[in-house]
Amino acid sequence: MANPAQRANKLFVQTFGTNADDLYRAPGRVNLIGEHTDYNDGFVLPAAINFHTIIAVKKREDDRFRAVSDAYPGKINSWHFGQEGKMDPEDGWINYLKGFTAAMAASGLPAKGMDIAVVGNVPLGAGLSSSAALEIAFGTAVNDCSQLRLSPLAVAQMAQRGENQYVGYACGIMDQIISAMGQQDHALLIDCEDLDSEPVPIPESLSLIIVNSNLPRGEVEAQEAIRRQQCQQVADHFAIDSLRHLDLTTLEAARTKLPELIYRRARHVLSENRRTQNAAHALQAGNIGRLSELMAQSHASMRDDFEISLPEIDTLVEIIAQVVGQQGGVRMTGKGFGGCVVALVDHELTDAVVAAIEAQYQVKTGIEPTVYLCSASGGASRVDESWFDDELY
Ligand code: ADP
Ligand code: MG
Repeated sequence: MANPAQRANKLFVQTFGTNADDLYRAPGRVNLIGEHTDYNDGFVLPAAINFHTIIAVKKREDDRFRAVSDAYPGKINSWHFGQEGKMDPEDGWINYLKGFTAAMAASGLPAKGMDIAVVGNVPLGAGLSSSAALEIAFGTAVNDCSQLRLSPLAVAQMAQRGENQYVGYACGIMDQIISAMGQQDHALLIDCEDLDSEPVPIPESLSLIIVNSNLPRGEVEAQEAIRRQQCQQVADHFAIDSLRHLDLTTLEAARTKLPELIYRRARHVLSENRRTQNAAHALQAGNIGRLSELMAQSHASMRDDFEISLPEIDTLVEIIAQVVGQQGGVRMTGKGFGGCVVALVDHELTDAVVAAIEAQYQVKTGIEPTVYLCSASGGASRVDESWFDDELY
């Protein structure tokens, strides 16, 4: 089978009748720990994964953009820079690209038009952030083609602005930063307050396994909005901007003055911030037993205090934890109410983990899971066709 870069070039030629000039790629991601901490100005620890969105690009002489994707074949989408209009849900995936150019125009940046063809293997809507991979692959291409010289962080911020203001989803910045700035074989400890980030090596002895629960994901956005509001309620109680400026001792002391539910929401965020920093230290030190403990505590906190897990997800975590013991960690990843579980496990246990999932998850839940064996990839870049030779295609 052709590698994805070859497929992107082929789609480009089929669509536009000429060769593309350049290829760009951006990875999907998984968050190892630090859930619902991003919008509370806290810490997250994601890794970019070796599933990518690839786009073949040719610069145009005018300000027009034309785009196709093999995920939505048949239609060429077209718009002029600075004339994106309002988001139309009917336009579907193209809104992510229009959001990016609209954010550029709103920032006073210029852009040259481009023809682009998109392919990729980041599963759509699985919680591995195919949306950020799409935005960042596109943003990296625009940045180069229009010679803007934006830093990867600035590209990530532009993408977030597009998604917040044009697409209308109040996402945090984690997905865009990790897709733009990830490093091979590393996670990235991101401080969501000042956007500082620090690469953290993932020990060579560990496999990165992601399992999609394949539960339907109806509730997640509404529930996230409720959690945000609850966190804000605690911040308001203490007259602070965000939960980043609260510590666990102060929260404990005020416990009786807060509704119990609201107290537990804040306890998750504050303890998760601490666990995330500690998990970065544990990875750095190769202390897998400690990592295992922190990921287990994180899962329990999401389940009991933040109440964003589901019984099927807990089952999946238990199946994996039983095989792994102290030789790796496992927890739900993402905003919750379905989605994926992430595990970092000793290589030698990988086969046993996959076998346990296949033997037990569907029997216990009636749902077939999807297992992704991953490695931590580098952030977005310009590539050529040979880049993908060793990849998973
Ligand atoms: P996730 O980011 O978890 O995969 P989202 O719902 O946030 O889920 O984003 C998925 C959406 O992103 C898709 O419905 C589609 O609109 C867009 N998208 C992602 N990858 C591609 C692609 N390769 N081609 C076209 N659209 C894509
Ligand atoms: Mg997304």
